[in-house]
Amino acid sequence: MAEHRARKRFGQNFLSDASVIRRIVDAIRAQPGETMVEIGPGLGAMTAPLVERLGHMHVIEIDRDLIARLKQRYAPEQLTIHEGDALAFDFAALGPDLRVVGNLPYNISTPLLFHLAGFAEGVRDMHFMLQKEVVERMVAEPDTPDYGRLSVMLQVRFAMASIFDVPPGAFRPEPRVTSSIVRMVPLPADRPAPDDEALFARIVAAAFGQRRKTLRNTLREFLTDPDFEALSIDPGLRGERLTVADYIAIANHVHRKQ
Ligand code: SAM
Repeated sequence: MAEHRARKRFGQNFLSDASVIRRIVDAIRAQPGETMVEIGPGLGAMTAPLVERLGHMHVIEIDRDLIARLKQRYAPEQLTIHEGDALAFDFAALGPDLRVVGNLPYNISTPLLFHLAGFAEGVRDMHFMLQKEVVERMVAEPDTPDYGRLSVMLQVRFAMASIFDVPPGAFRPEPRVTSSIVRMVPLPADRPAPDDEALFARIVAAAFGQRRKTLRNTLREFLTDPDFEALSIDPGLRGERLTVADYIAIANHVHRKQ
């Protein structure tokens, strides 16, 4: 088959550094019999060592040329290929105890993380390569510049850790930015959680929608001054000062008032 030309619109930067690939696969610690899905296998840099360890895995790929290559290389007993858009994929159909991995296309990484957050219950863990800057936002603590909607919406469901950085030189073609590997493990079912996930998401979006405004302004639709008092939260603060637990308390207070 002719050499594949990387497609920018599909965020294609293929891993080419064997030692980086080995490090990622070691961090994932795949065991035979586990159910694993890789988002965007591409030319199979991670797929090959993972299939070797697991015996069988699932992949989701959008690029028809790459799908043709994968079909040529692997038997259906080794690889179940789901052709299409990971953003529309029903991950619950593969669970329970699903492991998700991927060197994610950077152009869709944030919406993909939000999509995946909806499947946390059926997931054991996720390991992703992302732009370092996105990983910093995911794991950021309150009152830091990186803390925002993405941090709160993911930290409410996952324990997350940045494992190691990967330089642009590990890819072909080279991306402009440094990448990081992040591990995401769903929090236990008995964790503090919002009663109404959709309401929680609306409140977090409002609080971070206008970062320079105070909570009294951004959450006007949801809370009055007496509500802030009942919650022991200062309405003169900005959204970035509140913890994930504060946002859960706010959402549950609003939910009970309704
Ligand atoms: N895993 C390979 C590697 O590490 O070399 C390729 C990684 S490349 C950054 C991203 C891959 O995701 C490409 O194979 C691309 O075609 C695929 N992709 C892009 N958008 C996608 C989408 N919406 N759904 C599924 N796969 C997608």
